[in-house]
Amino acid sequence: MRIDMHIHTSASDGTWNPEQLVGEVKNKGIQIFALTDHDTIDNISPTRALADEAGLFFLPGIEISSTLHGHLFHILAYGTDPLDTRLQQLIKENTRLMHEKDDDSIHTLIEHGYNIDLKRYLNYENDITRGGWKALNFLIEEGICKDTNEFFGGVFNELLSQAFPTFSLPEKVIEIITGAGGIPVLAHPGVTLYNKYRLEELLEEFYHRGIQGIETFHPQHDEETRRICYEWALQKDLQITGGSDCHGDFIHYRKLGDPEIYVEQLKVDKILKKL
Ligand SMILES: [Zn+2]
Ligand SMILES: [Zn+2]
Repeated sequence: MRIDMHIHTSASDGTWNPEQLVGEVKNKGIQIFALTDHDTIDNISPTRALADEAGLFFLPGIEISSTLHGHLFHILAYGTDPLDTRLQQLIKENTRLMHEKDDDSIHTLIEHGYNIDLKRYLNYENDITRGGWKALNFLIEEGICKDTNEFFGGVFNELLSQAFPTFSLPEKVIEIITGAGGIPVLAHPGVTLYNKYRLEELLEEFYHRGIQGIETFHPQHDEETRRICYEWALQKDLQITGGSDCHGDFIHYRKLGDPEIYVEQLKVDKILKKL
């Protein structure tokens, strides 16, 4: 069975609504899929209903932000109880921090001489179907940057990376996920965001903090990265997962169903029990 365990919708920074997502999943011939929006479960219920109608297997998920030694890490969670109070508090707090970060980014740019009208920003209505987030879309509208690449290559590196919020420690996030009945999985350990660590070092760090799975298949993982993640997770008896990290049309190099993954290539017994 073809599977994609890492997908975003417009509830976080993707462009698709649940109808579009389920339609695309079906078109691609994917039979099992997870929705893993950043720090929100808002689209879980409607997606589950549509998946049921379409005869697809649906895995409720979420991708939770976490901070370790000043760096941002994403932790995927599968099968958590959406009504769990501590989980709800955590994602509410993370959402608040992200919104605050939007406003802080704009303030930082103004302080550094960018010609930005704060009032226009405050009145700016972000269109969620564009994907991304408010500050990014505003800066694009205002011509400060052309697109996401220019944002990350320009204003973000220069000034804004310092202003990134401090989220909860991984061990706390992991503990809340397991407390809510879910399986915590380290997302894309090989992406450049984490380059400050050697891959094996990073895996060890998270293993000692209680991670139960490693996202091994990801569009930004090369063969060597996959091999290291796979063998390491197998040796530690952890879950081995994979997905496209598709954001609809927002991030062009992450397409639904890429890489093409089949359940047999993974180790997802504990996660599939949550179906
Ligand atoms: Zn991520
Ligand atoms: Zn993601």
